[in-house]
Amino acid sequence: MDCRPGCGACCIAPSISSPIPGMPVINGISKPAGVRCIQLDSANRCQIFGHPERPAVCSSLQPTPAMCGQDSAQALHFLNQLERATQPDGHEAMTK
Ligand code: SF4
Ligand code: SF4
Repeated sequence: MDCRPGCGACCIAPSISSPIPGMPVINGISKPAGVRCIQLDSANRCQIFGHPERPAVCSSLQPTPAMCGQDSAQALHFLNQLERATQPDGHEAMTK
């Protein structure tokens, strides 16, 4: 499946450890879980799409029906659950 335009759920729910322009790395995390990536524009598009600064994990993340659901609310719900399940100590979920 293709990424749903305007969704942006996987740029909000997961934590990211790889450096992202404009987001300071604090305790090994550049984007905390649940925090909107600063590179996500108002239309929920990545502003650094295709740029070398975009974390490799963002480029490699593949949309799937299970993750993306029918809409962004379903995707956020799934990804929030995944974040909690993989980060019992509240730190890094997705190794980005
Ligand atoms: S959750 Fe799926 S549809 Fe939404 S932004 Fe991520 S890859 Fe795209
Ligand atoms: S860098 Fe782009 S693709 Fe990666 S989380 Fe931020 S907005 Fe999303």
